[in-house]
Amino acid sequence: MARRPPPPKNTGLEVKIFGTKVLRRVAEPVAEINQTIRDLADQMIKCMYDEEGIGLAAPQVGVSVRLFVIDTRREREEDDPVPSPGELALETKMPLAVINPEITWKSPETCDFSEGCLSIPGVNGNVVRPSLIRLKGKNLDGDEFEWECGGLLARCAQHEIDHLDGILFTDRAEEGDMKKAAARLAKLKSEAELLEKARGG
Ligand SMILES: [Zn+2]
Repeated sequence: MARRPPPPKNTGLEVKIFGTKVLRRVAEPVAEINQTIRDLADQMIKCMYDEEGIGLAAPQVGVSVRLFVIDTRREREEDDPVPSPGELALETKMPLAVINPEITWKSPETCDFSEGCLSIPGVNGNVVRPSLIRLKGKNLDGDEFEWECGGLLARCAQHEIDHLDGILFTDRAEEGDMKKAAARLAKLKSEAELLEKARGG
């Protein structure tokens, strides 16, 4: 997810833009947490910070595997809701790489939030999602965890797991917001398709 429009890129990884085929592919599970995966996660964390994002999924850098990185830590105000157990447990470990993530439960309660995405620069849209989820996954040491997550962590994790299934927030956003973004989306898509064609993709 994006915090604000990305500044110029300065990492080895390239964020794939809306219209690039890999963003619509269902990603493969990570079979083994080896050095390649650890290096990829490290690079993705650097890329996420460079782009001022709070989450980045592997397909967004062209690697179709089930891995995302996340850092949703923020200053809490006094009147903020009580953080969920997952926020308390996982924020201390951020930036965090989550391997083969699963949502094992979703609350019937929902909330809405204006989302953005590093792969869809300049576009925001209101998305309704469950307020709480149980997030299961492994860290880079292979330790499995499962926590009830709320707040920005739940929001971002759902957005990133969608990426692993080839789903973008624009598929779920309010129609009015997407109508406003239609011209921008069409432009991004045609540019990405041209680039991919030029590279023989
Ligand atoms: Zn995204």
